[in-house]
Amino acid sequence: MATTSADRIAIVNAQIVTVDKTATVIDNGTIVVKHDGSIGKIGAGRIDHDATEVVDAGGAIVMPGLINAHTHLGMTLFRGLGDDMSLEAFLARLMPAEIRVLDYDAVHSGTELAALESLLGGITTSLDMYYMPDAALKVAESSRMRLQTGTTFLESDGPEPMKWPDRLAWVSKWLEQPRDNMGSTGWVAPHSTYLLGEDHLRVIAELAARYEARVHVHAAETVGEMKLVADRHGGRTPIQVLRDTGLLGRAVLAHGVHLTDDDIKLIADASASVVHCPASNFKLASGIARLIDLQEAGVNIALGTDGPASGNDIDLWIAIRLAGYMQKTMAANPEVLPARDLVRMATINGAKALQLDHVIGSLEVGKRADLIMLDPDSPSLTPNFDPHTTIATSVTRADVVNVMIDGEFVVRDRECLTIDKQQVVRKVAALGKRVLASVDGD
Ligand SMILES: [Zn+2]
Repeated sequence: MATTSADRIAIVNAQIVTVDKTATVIDNGTIVVKHDGSIGKIGAGRIDHDATEVVDAGGAIVMPGLINAHTHLGMTLFRGLGDDMSLEAFLARLMPAEIRVLDYDAVHSGTELAALESLLGGITTSLDMYYMPDAALKVAESSRMRLQTGTTFLESDGPEPMKWPDRLAWVSKWLEQPRDNMGSTGWVAPHSTYLLGEDHLRVIAELAARYEARVHVHAAETVGEMKLVADRHGGRTPIQVLRDTGLLGRAVLAHGVHLTDDDIKLIADASASVVHCPASNFKLASGIARLIDLQEAGVNIALGTDGPASGNDIDLWIAIRLAGYMQKTMAANPEVLPARDLVRMATINGAKALQLDHVIGSLEVGKRADLIMLDPDSPSLTPNFDPHTTIATSVTRADVVNVMIDGEFVVRDRECLTIDKQQVVRKVAALGKRVLASVDGD
């Protein structure tokens, strides 16, 4: 139907947690979403608009969509396959199973299930690292979840059997394609400095520089990794290797658990981001990241779930809570990492890591309307004296009622509108049987 109005939807009676620079909260607020998917107006009380659809938030918290800054979405297929074991033992079980089971359709199904889980839980943007990223981008297109991804580099062939020169040609072609309408520069994803040698890392750095691509890489996750990297790279730390190979300045570093003082300085000087993944770190007993020291050094810290095979769920609310509680315990000081900082880590800091903070990550006029609306009648969110505290300590995925991306609802009344739940759950359950059969006899 043709329309002459500029406004599409007005969300009224909302407690708007904007996550702007001064952490403004607007009680009884209105957000007007324009037809182009951007936020047209935002403010207290009634605001003039000509939207045909008005959604009453019932006084509930409305906040920016969560940004999952490190994940492997397609890994839902392997959820629960290797638990109660070390990262090294887990990878030894996972990687052969991936080679046996993964193809384009399997990655598509696994990613679609992950997108469903993400959207229902309030995650609107993900930085993904997985094989056959074209399959994940297809899911992003149909589900409307924002997805940033790049090609993965291992030294071995992995599930994408491809010789190194062929892989480089593929990646170049991939990076030449236009990415999205948000100005993303594209990504390359060298898995880590323990699975890649210096020569390969340097080639990837040259490629990233040529295409101005960002680098998504695991770094300093476990003590075992530190030893492997030191042995392989002449006693250096993963961060030193990334600096020496020219990758650090473009990097989003997943984990960053075992960092020296010098590493933290290098990360800060390079303006790299660290993605803290507490659920994965604690489950694998990888260690506790030095978030307070990173914060003091001025490093941008975002949050991630890691892959659902190591995470195991894709729940960023849990990550918010674990991050805060563990740092307070470690510092023996409940004042560190206050709720406002934790909310920023799950939203605007993720956008900064992705260099998309000019378009997403907070609710401000001109930005894209990526937002979530919580349940106004949730028992566990009542009363709600300080919404930042409520978000950091009480909200769960069950409290997410509506989710909007680019001005359109993708979840309404807790139902995902863009993914057929029954179909994808059945598909992945069937694939799970194949996964199990592939590891029988290991
Ligand atoms: Zn990971």
